[in-house]
Amino acid sequence: MAPIIKETDYLVIGGGSGGLASARMASGKYGTKALIIENKRLGGTCVNVGCVPKKVTYNAAALAEAIHDSKAYGFSVQETAPFDWSTFKTKRDAYIKRLNGIYERNLNNDKVEYLHGWARLLSKDQAEVTLDDGSKVVVNAKKILVAVGGKPTPPPQIPGAEFGINSDGFFEIATQPKKVAIIGAGYIAVEFAGVFNALGTETHLFIRHDTFLRSFDPMIQESVTKEYERLGVNLHKRSAASKIEKNANGKLTVTYRDESGNESVVTDVDHLIWAIGRTPETHAIGLEEAGVKLRDSGHIVVDEYQNTAVDNIYALGDVTGEAELTPVAIAAGRRLAHRLFGPAEFSNLKLSYDNIPSVVFSHPEVGSVGLTEPQAIEKYGKDNIKVYKTGFTAMYYAMMEPDQKGPTNYKLITTGPEEKVVGLHIMGQGSGEMLQGFGVAVKMGATKADFDSCVAIHPTSAEELVTLK
Ligand code: NDP
Repeated sequence: MAPIIKETDYLVIGGGSGGLASARMASGKYGTKALIIENKRLGGTCVNVGCVPKKVTYNAAALAEAIHDSKAYGFSVQETAPFDWSTFKTKRDAYIKRLNGIYERNLNNDKVEYLHGWARLLSKDQAEVTLDDGSKVVVNAKKILVAVGGKPTPPPQIPGAEFGINSDGFFEIATQPKKVAIIGAGYIAVEFAGVFNALGTETHLFIRHDTFLRSFDPMIQESVTKEYERLGVNLHKRSAASKIEKNANGKLTVTYRDESGNESVVTDVDHLIWAIGRTPETHAIGLEEAGVKLRDSGHIVVDEYQNTAVDNIYALGDVTGEAELTPVAIAAGRRLAHRLFGPAEFSNLKLSYDNIPSVVFSHPEVGSVGLTEPQAIEKYGKDNIKVYKTGFTAMYYAMMEPDQKGPTNYKLITTGPEEKVVGLHIMGQGSGEMLQGFGVAVKMGATKADFDSCVAIHPTSAEELVTLK
């Protein structure tokens, strides 16, 4: 059957956060004829198997913690309140399905045409889309955006690695596991471990070094790692899984090796989760054929304007490997649409990748914007930075026994005689909500004096950041 031929001004490959934002801005605001292709569910990683269902699950874990803590405030509650994981999962799935529908309606409202299928570039201005029924559509496009995102990095080749699942599989777990093993040391491993532990699952976290979150400031790495141990996560430091076996009862035995080569096992594991990073989805979509340049890692090479090596092909979001965060992809996608289809005043618009705030929904939450202390030393020299730190017990814990009290740690890194704030790192309850406002201040170039000139809000933890000595 001859393929259907379509013409468009803006072909967007990938219906995740970045692609949707760019297509909608192009069509909804500027009337550009836009066509978006997605082969899974609309919304991409964030909506379906990332930020959104993760945050809802984090909320459940935070409630479990609050129920536990409420005893200290005089409530008579069961030590471990029953949690119905299956009911929660059904509701969470329904919520995500609703969001998928909203995303489709939004495309409709903004008059973006949507095809469900697999797109492959045939040349710099043509792509072939294989629809779900196997039929083909050939799209001739004036401009093409590749925003296909990434997928969990496959596990290393150890015996039985395939018995493990990845972060996509986490969201399919139908009943609460009694025991889990998580391998990895980044955002995902730490967030999942925190959630499981708070909900009462025996949690084993295997990390290759002494701390996790190693891309964060050392204060964050050390204090959150220590806090996880205090909260009861079984942390296997300097350890690597060497073999996974599946037993007749469906449970897993994880054999792991410490740095001296000694082997130990964790038995009766319901799920093992690999969370060792993400890999771009740049395979089999015709990028090389179209002339798009890739790095060795598979990420697409782009300049600061999201231009690829090919004139009318652009890329953004996780597929470029630059700050793999949903709001970054959205911001880049909107700016690109303004630049390509908007008025002349936007012809130089681009996203600044400096001072992007980011939060880890760990226990407690972590927030970070700007440089870590080692990065600041490398950039400005040790003598040209001044570091302010504080560690305290938040008032929330005032009613609790000493062994129930969690830490709060803040660090501010400044440079130059004017003490411009170049790094802000916080860990403690509420850090996620706190960081956005402080992120604005840092982005505006605030100095320590600017922080100090803002009157404290009392009693909060955040006030400590404007009264640092
Ligand atoms: P990350 O890149 O954050 O971390 C993965 C870590 O796993 C590595 O840094 C490494 O740490 C460790 N690792 C790598 N290979 C192995 C291995 N073979 N065995 C054991 N450990 C290994 O990846 P994630 O998968 O956690 O997350 C991917 C991205 O998704 C993040 O970078 C982030 O941008 C985004 N994300 C953001 C969230 C948020 O904003 N809250 C939440 C979740 C994800 P080490 O070197 O210390 O061993």
